[in-house]
Amino acid sequence: MSFANLNIIDPLLRALAKEGYTTPTPIQMLAIPPLLDGKDLVGIAQTGTGKTAAFVLPILQRMMAERKSSPPGVPRVLVLAPTRELAAQIGQSFATYGQFLRFRHLVIFGGVRQGPQVQMLSRGVDILIATPGRLLDLMNQGYIELKGVEFFVLDEIDRMLDMGFIKDVRRVVSALPKKRNSLFFSATMSQQTGEFAESFLTDPVHVEAPHTTCTLDCIDQSVFFVDQNSKNSLLMELLREGDMERVLVFARTKHRADKVATMLEKNRIRADAIHGNKSQNQRTKAMHNFKSGHIQVLVATDIAARGIDIDDITHVVNYDLPNEPESYVHRIGRTGRAGASGTAFSFCAADERSFLRDIERLTREQIKVAEHQFHSEKAKSAVGAAAKPVPPNRSRVTQRSLQTKSMGKPAPRRSHTARVAY
Ligand code: AMP
Repeated sequence: MSFANLNIIDPLLRALAKEGYTTPTPIQMLAIPPLLDGKDLVGIAQTGTGKTAAFVLPILQRMMAERKSSPPGVPRVLVLAPTRELAAQIGQSFATYGQFLRFRHLVIFGGVRQGPQVQMLSRGVDILIATPGRLLDLMNQGYIELKGVEFFVLDEIDRMLDMGFIKDVRRVVSALPKKRNSLFFSATMSQQTGEFAESFLTDPVHVEAPHTTCTLDCIDQSVFFVDQNSKNSLLMELLREGDMERVLVFARTKHRADKVATMLEKNRIRADAIHGNKSQNQRTKAMHNFKSGHIQVLVATDIAARGIDIDDITHVVNYDLPNEPESYVHRIGRTGRAGASGTAFSFCAADERSFLRDIERLTREQIKVAEHQFHSEKAKSAVGAAAKPVPPNRSRVTQRSLQTKSMGKPAPRRSHTARVAY
C-alpha cells in the first residue's frame, strides 16, 4: 500500500516523498478514501498516529478539485484545536503537505496581539486553524465570516470538552453553513464525546487508529486456509509451538468468543473472553489480567475490542475473518504498537473466502499463505477470490502497486499431532 494507491495527486505525493513518507499509516489508509469521497468522519486517533495528514491530505486534494479564491476573512477550511501548540502543529502540516500548492493558511490563537492576524485575514486565507476563544473574538469583531467553510475539522474533541470549550464549539458550529464536510478526531471516545460529535455529523464513517505510525508493513501477516472444524486444533497448535506471549483472538460472535476461551482453558491455556454480554466488572478484570500477563489469550468480538488500549500484543489471531475489511485493519493494528513489530494470523475457511478477497482489495496486498498440518485445499480454492487479481482502486490504481509478500513461504515444521480438548 502506498499513497499513490490512495489516489493522492502528484503535488501531494511529491511533498510526502520529500518528507520520506511513502506508506500510509492505518488511520490514513482508512480515512483518506472516504474523505476523498466527501464523507463526514469520526476518528479515534491520538497524536503520533499520522492523523493530521489523514485529514490535511484529502482536504487539500478536494480544494484543488475546485480552485477558487477566498475573500478577506472568509476561509474555505476551518480547523478548531484546543491548544495553541496543536493549532501551530496543524498549521505546519498544511504548510508541509501543501508546499507545492498555492493555498494560504493562517493559525490564530489568543495570548498574542491580534493585529498581525487581522492583517493576514484581510489578505484572504483559504485555511484557518484556530483555538475557539480567539476565533469567536475575531468573528464578533467582524474579521471572520464562516459562511464559506466547506471543510470543518474538530481536533481533539475530548480535550476540547475537558477544557470547557463545549459552548464555544457550539457557537462556532452554529455559524457554519449547513452544507459542509465535518471531520472529528478524538483520542478517546466516551459516550459524551461520541454524542457530541454525532450531533454535528451526517452519516459519518468511523475509523480508529492504533497508537503508532507503524504501518501495516510492520506487521507480519499470514493466512491459514483451514476448515471451520479444525480451527481449534490449529489455534492450539500455534499456541503450543509459537512464541505467542500476549495474544488477542477475534471471534465473530459472543457465543463463539466464549466457546474459544473455554476450549483454550480446557487445554490449559490461560484465557478469557470479552464481549457485550459480560458485565463491566468482568471486562475490567479480563483486561487487567491480560495487561498484567496473568492470562495469555484474550478472545474478543470486534465491538468489545474497540478502544482496547494494550501495548505489547505480540499476536492478533483472526479466528474468524471479519466481514467488513476495515475491521481487519483495526484488528491487526492492535499488534505492532509503539513501533514494535507484530504478527497477525488469519484463519480462513471456505465460507470466509470472499472476506479475504475484500481484505486484500482494501489493503492492496496479498497476504502470504502459511503452510500447516490442518491446511484445507477446499478453503483455499473456495469460490470467491481464488486467483482473482486485486482489482484497481476506485479510479486510477495500477496493478503495479500490488505487493505480493513472499507467497507460500513455508511455516516452521511441526511434527506432532495436536490433541485438543473441546
Ligand atoms: P500526528 O499523529 O499527525 O501528530 O503525526 C505523528 C508523526 O508522524 C508526525 O511527525 C508526522 O509527520 C509523522 N507521519 C505522518 N504520516 C506518516 C507516514 N505515513 N509515515 C511516517 N510518518 C508519518
